Amino acid sequence: MVTEKGSDHSSESATYDVLKSTQTVIHNALNKLGYSEEVYELLKEPIRMMTVKIPVRMDDGKVKVFTGYRAQHNDAVGPTKGGIRFHPNVSEKEVKALSIWMSLKCGIVDLPYGGGKGGIICDPREMSFRELETLSRGYVRAISQIVGPNKDIPAPDVFTNSQIMAWMMDEYSRIDEFNSPGFITGKPFVLGGSHGRETATAKGVTICIREAAKKRGISIQGARVVVQGFGNAGSFLAKFMHDAGAKVIGISDAYGALHDPEGLDIDYLLDRRDSFGTVTKLFDSTLTNDELLELDCDILVPAAIENQIREDNAHKIKASIVVEAANGPTTLEATKILTDRGILLVPDVLASAGGVTVSYFEWVQNNQGYYWPEEEVKEKLEHVMVRSFEAIYQASQSRKVDMRLAAYMVGVRKMAEASRFRGWI
Ligand code: GLU
Repeated sequence: MVTEKGSDHSSESATYDVLKSTQTVIHNALNKLGYSEEVYELLKEPIRMMTVKIPVRMDDGKVKVFTGYRAQHNDAVGPTKGGIRFHPNVSEKEVKALSIWMSLKCGIVDLPYGGGKGGIICDPREMSFRELETLSRGYVRAISQIVGPNKDIPAPDVFTNSQIMAWMMDEYSRIDEFNSPGFITGKPFVLGGSHGRETATAKGVTICIREAAKKRGISIQGARVVVQGFGNAGSFLAKFMHDAGAKVIGISDAYGALHDPEGLDIDYLLDRRDSFGTVTKLFDSTLTNDELLELDCDILVPAAIENQIREDNAHKIKASIVVEAANGPTTLEATKILTDRGILLVPDVLASAGGVTVSYFEWVQNNQGYYWPEEEVKEKLEHVMVRSFEAIYQASQSRKVDMRLAAYMVGVRKMAEASRFRGWI
């Protein structure tokens, strides 16, 4: 069972205000585009935020009450879309910020969606299969009124996977009294999942790395790559980079990091990791995650969770390209430090948009009841990612801003325009 996105490197994430930093960049982007404060007032927070309590009878017979959230950032463009995260550090603020990032991603790759995000405060690593199923179904019952194939379409995120999507789809279909595959994406293939969805985030990141490397005149063949996180994004990415001829010299999970300057045996590591992306426990000598980030390499890919590259370690990063596969791994202060040091930073809202892009393909296939061959999904994803990368790279060059601000400018524009045409602002 492969879970979506990274591993758990969350000790700092609870303290850093990801919502505030996202709002700062949104504000800057709207200012640069010449929009009024009213537009910012509308876009700075989700239009809807639901908090739910989910009682689950645990295997020891006791009832545990979990807290969950669903945020819908802006639905001017279309239904909201975004994953559900199961993690002990989930918070209301984090879910809000994540929903805004989803809006930006959808705007950047030009999908007919606004952003949404869900989360449950829990540690799935400590829960049985039955407890997870009860929690997943309970969450869907609790949020059922605000979600649906044309309202808000969930998907996997950190520590959730296709099995959890299947339970959620089944629960929603019972409530809806219809088979509703379009309610959620990231489903198993036999339940209406799409070819290529499981590897989509990593594929999108791989395309961004290739395009960024071209801009910097770096050859992927032999390039030294470090990947932080060995979850859905990190592990497949390490594999794709390895297969493309790069040398993956460092990887990590929540418990430590592995380093081999000659290149790690990625196939072996993939084989030995558990369903939560844990593999370093099998080795005696490991580095810390902070040491991993500072390794001498050409390309660094944070693929875990927020707040990993910060003001205190940004000046120690040795890579010349940083591509964010995780959501929010670099703070704003660190973005400035990296950019001033001439490091090309490809932001999360662009680099990790491959996942939601193939989710969109899955939803379209569900709506049509017609399923595409793998090649078609691959080609379409390639096209979307290359076009989006180029648009943002060019915007950053012509507006003389870093790629994060350029991506936010591209991402907010469609939302702002759609809200204006609807007469909201
Ligand atoms: N959770 C993924 C993300 O953060 C995918 C969302 C989706 O497929 O809707 O982009």
